[in-house]
Amino acid sequence: MGRLLIVSNRLPVTVVRKKGKSNFQPSVGGLATGLASVSKRYSTLWVGWSGIEMNSEEKILEARMRSEGMYPVNLSKSEVNGYYHGFCNKTIWPLFHNFPQYAIYNEKWWDAYKKVNEKFQAVVTEMAESDDIIWIHDYHLMLLPNLLREEVSEAKIGFFLHIPFPPFEMFRLLPWRRDLLEGLLGADLIGFHIYDYVQNFLQCIHRLLGYEHELGRLIVEDRIVKVDAFPMGIDYDKFESITSSPEVEEEVKRIRKRLGGRRIILSVDRLDYTKGIPLRLEAFDLFLDKYPEYVGKVTFVLKLVPSRTRVEHYVQLKKYVDELVGKINGKYGDIEWVPVQYIYRFLPLEKLIALYRAADIALITPLRDGMNLVAKEFIASKIDGKGALILSETTGAAFELVEAIIVNPNDKERVAEALKIALEMPEDEQINRNRTMQERLKRYNVEKWVEDFIQELDKIKEVQHEFSTKYLMRDANNLLKDYRDSSKRLLLLDYDGTLVPHADDPRKAEPDEELVGILTELSSDRRNTVVIVSGRDRKTLEGWFKNLNVDLVAEHGAAVRRGGEWRLVEGVDDWKESIRQVLELYVDRTPGSFIEEKEFSIVWHYRKANPELGRRRAAELESVLMSLIAGTDLNILKGDKVIEVRKAGVDKGRAALEWLSDDWEFVLAAGNDVTDEDLFSVLPENSYSIKIGFGPSRAKYYLRSVHELRSVLKKLQRL
Ligand code: UDP
Repeated sequence: MGRLLIVSNRLPVTVVRKKGKSNFQPSVGGLATGLASVSKRYSTLWVGWSGIEMNSEEKILEARMRSEGMYPVNLSKSEVNGYYHGFCNKTIWPLFHNFPQYAIYNEKWWDAYKKVNEKFQAVVTEMAESDDIIWIHDYHLMLLPNLLREEVSEAKIGFFLHIPFPPFEMFRLLPWRRDLLEGLLGADLIGFHIYDYVQNFLQCIHRLLGYEHELGRLIVEDRIVKVDAFPMGIDYDKFESITSSPEVEEEVKRIRKRLGGRRIILSVDRLDYTKGIPLRLEAFDLFLDKYPEYVGKVTFVLKLVPSRTRVEHYVQLKKYVDELVGKINGKYGDIEWVPVQYIYRFLPLEKLIALYRAADIALITPLRDGMNLVAKEFIASKIDGKGALILSETTGAAFELVEAIIVNPNDKERVAEALKIALEMPEDEQINRNRTMQERLKRYNVEKWVEDFIQELDKIKEVQHEFSTKYLMRDANNLLKDYRDSSKRLLLLDYDGTLVPHADDPRKAEPDEELVGILTELSSDRRNTVVIVSGRDRKTLEGWFKNLNVDLVAEHGAAVRRGGEWRLVEGVDDWKESIRQVLELYVDRTPGSFIEEKEFSIVWHYRKANPELGRRRAAELESVLMSLIAGTDLNILKGDKVIEVRKAGVDKGRAALEWLSDDWEFVLAAGNDVTDEDLFSVLPENSYSIKIGFGPSRAKYYLRSVHELRSVLKKLQRL
């Protein structure tokens, strides 16, 4: 049976000290429940902080915890202060929840954060075995994936972030932004609740570290890292069964009676500034003001759980909420009716579920929330299907619970209106909406979430394996041997992105000294025929390679130069003018993009444009061009950050046939983008085809970079 190591800030236990004696009790959270489903396949071990500073006597307790699969990481008071109360709660939490004005950047906290992540690394490394699955949770441990990668390089490492990942504009404010990203990229799989966070993350990775992704996959050094969304579910069956227990039935009746049979609006949150509680109260005030027919008819049960009670922003917030509740109750209430029933404490699950069931409406309006489980729990508790959910669009849950009444929490007018709509929603509509949401929550419950994440982690390991078996550097000896043993060799080499790295301005990508050296050596060996197979125009290629004994293919095959003479595969004509006009429009609308005009084609480049905008405009342009060229013999070619229009039937593969019709003892072809796939597809069986970068390809082998290809070519030139 495999082992699954869960690493999170806290262990799922509470250590209690009573009359000088210490003990621990397991606490079952959503994650622990979800793990039960994989317990048949994995034995689960847990690494985390115990929540207290353990004294020397408590070492015995530690041994007992370990024997039950829980490995405490011991932290000193000052470490907890810097790492947890400081960096986690006062830097990352506000910044990642769009509250940059609350974020404090303190070098000492950062040092503590690094140190604590290293302490976690030490505990995990000590216990980890090579085929363990290590699953790291949340923003407390963002440096841990890479720290572990350095120690247990072969391990399967997953990371899941339970809070939002902020947009680039927000994330870039962080002085240690690169360190955090590099820390995370040590994982094989990085998960977020929703796709918006995935996109934010990928954008930060691109803008700050330069990695581009293909369908959420990145090549980081020699590993593939996958980034994807896994919306966390709840333990649906548990809610369904507790909610139908006789104790809960009783409690529901009691609550309704105590509130005088009035309609009940409920909200449940930790008292946190991200939850939008003052705005919610103001919206309730506005609701009573706008719709006086509801005065005396509804009760708002505001259920808050104390949180971070020593932090200044939380103290102020508590004061403000107390005042607002007092204000509303004073303004509308009377002897028989208290408009806002305010509960400020933690409730055990049964009591909470009774509140969910008793409520007619859940009013859940955080300003930002990674997921929000309360919304899901409310829906799961509604076994009779009755009740309405009002949910903020800035919660992760809003992406799944689309049948809820979705609101912008800043729009008080609309929230007040939503309350009225919810109170007046016909019962069959309530049931219809809730049943649909229930089905979804039941299917993608917390067990499924755990399964899904672990399966994906396994899968990405397989992809990594495939990558490494096709990774030419592992198998270069065969290539070298075949090369050495042959006396008639053909080398077909793409230029941009293969022999030279992509440059922002294509005119600047001329061959450097090293490349000229490599090509000179290779082409002066009379056993070799070297062909540069490029999308560039004739003039450019001619200018760059005039002193070399190489053959050339220009403009993706429109013209070929073999033995010094150019031959046109394609005639020039006047179709370009109409296409140019369209491209010019896209240059105006996409700052940083430009047109390159070649003899036989016309190209729109967007490498220098903002990546998101570039991608979007490229998609738009493609569809415009599609309709423009329909019925003509023109063709659209999407390359790496370029869209090219040219005559159909011209491609690198067809051009290469010019050489391939001869007999060769050794054929090597290297390329990096879609245009090179045409070339790969016409090669004889035993050729060496090499793709630079990792993505779907017909090539037999991969290399990671231009640099690696050059190192292979250098080895050849020495043989
Ligand atoms: N909760 C609870 N008792 C309470 C209030 C809340 O057990 O009195 C639980 C609730 O069931 C939910 C969790 O606390 O599972 C809150 O999770 P959520 O994602 O809504 O918000 P977070 O506190 O993580 O920001």
